[in-house]
Amino acid sequence: MCPICQKPTHTDFAPFCSKVCKNIDLLRWLNEEYRIPTEDPLKEEETPPDNEESDH
Ligand SMILES: [Zn+2]
Repeated sequence: MCPICQKPTHTDFAPFCSKVCKNIDLLRWLNEEYRIPTEDPLKEEETPPDNEESDH
């Protein structure tokens, strides 16, 4: 049975029913693969350079 549309599986496109559903599943998989997490990465605090120049 096709996991996309629940139609009977076609042997040429197993486990899908057609090339269309096969592509749909592939696209879904690619979308999952390249999904960028929306969580903000740990922001590095910008520390000013510690230059203690003393004039003597
Ligand atoms: Zn299908």
